Amino acid sequence: MMEKTLSIIKPDGVSRNLMGDVIGRLEKEGLKIGAIKMIRMNKAQAKGFYKVHEGKPFFESVTDFMSSGPCVVMILEGENVIFRYRELMGATNFKDAAEGTIRRDFATDIEKNVVHGSDSPENADIEINYFFNALEIP
Ligand code: ATP
Ligand code: MG
Repeated sequence: MMEKTLSIIKPDGVSRNLMGDVIGRLEKEGLKIGAIKMIRMNKAQAKGFYKVHEGKPFFESVTDFMSSGPCVVMILEGENVIFRYRELMGATNFKDAAEGTIRRDFATDIEKNVVHGSDSPENADIEINYFFNALEIP
């Protein structure tokens, strides 16, 4: 199925100069980047983005982290791209992530795990519309 997903290079990825590495892996894997820009969320915007995690013990910390610096947001498009990109990212905790995944190779912490990817078509749609306007969406 043709899908779109929302990808973020998180503030740790940007500040550690990993943008090129992450984008290189997407391209090497054949994932098409349909839109891309750099943004900076404030605390309220980060809370809005991670609304589904409200009330969890890591919510305050992860929203502080996500608003701590610029992020790169991208729309990836392609067959089965939600699953394919999640596979490329690896598990949330880099210690559990498979060999060759972005998180295994670059993450330093369960929270500071370099990348985000939507986990379902419904959430991809919500997240894409959170960051991109109609003129920017491919
Ligand atoms: P993402 O939504 O960022 O793609 P994910 O779907 O793998 O990651 P989620 O369970 O949605 O994981 O958690 C969202 C983010 O919150 C994680 O990527 C991580 O940055 C942070 N996080 C999740 N679990 C923990 C935890 N136990 N301790 C600290 N931070 C966490
Ligand atoms: Mg998630």
